Amino acid sequence: MTNLCDLNWLQVEGAARRAVLVPLGSLEQHGPHLPLDTDTRIAVAVARGAAASRGGVAAAPPVAFGSSGEHAAFAGTLSIGTSALCSLLVELGRDATRDWKAMLLVNGHGGNVDAVSAAVDCLRGEGRPCAAFHVAPGSGDAHAGLSETALLLHLAPEVVRLDLAEAGERSPVSELMDRLRSDGVRSVSANGVLGDPRAATAREGRRLFEELIAGCLASLDALLAIPKPVHA
Ligand SMILES: [Zn+2]
Repeated sequence: MTNLCDLNWLQVEGAARRAVLVPLGSLEQHGPHLPLDTDTRIAVAVARGAAASRGGVAAAPPVAFGSSGEHAAFAGTLSIGTSALCSLLVELGRDATRDWKAMLLVNGHGGNVDAVSAAVDCLRGEGRPCAAFHVAPGSGDAHAGLSETALLLHLAPEVVRLDLAEAGERSPVSELMDRLRSDGVRSVSANGVLGDPRAATAREGRRLFEELIAGCLASLDALLAIPKPVHA
């Protein structure tokens, strides 16, 4: 199984339904050269790739809005915030675990981490097998930089404007985090880029993508090994 949208209900009913993967993205600026839905595209591709490698596992359509308040100063960004995203994921998880033995959230956006962690804690507290895999390609090149640009050159080269790619703020995100949280991304990077995308290649993107699929499958396999909760 791969793509839940493509199935009819009889196919789902007849399947093993071991796990559903839910990609989480964002709609937020990704510099002058990448589309607003970059995180969503990457999360969808990872979830579908992982689902295709395991029987009885499907990838749901994505939650395409996330928590992106730190990008609000750039036009086009649409965010629902941490609290609404957490509530959405809890309700989705309660419903998903009626049909499926487990749910894996495949999160493509760093700003979603707090909501995802809280939702997973809540659902697990209710005895529902669920976990999260956070897409974090490469290292230290946080936003619209080398890693995300390379991944999109591999996954969807037609949407990448490499001719417009330019370097942004290159300090490590750990050093910028306080200002990012208090004043937003635009206060540290005028073009919205954290990192330098100019040397990105599709070949590197393919390597990163394969790494992400392997990481997602490791999370999925660990989740599938969780024994079914015993209800009183
Ligand atoms: Zn991103």
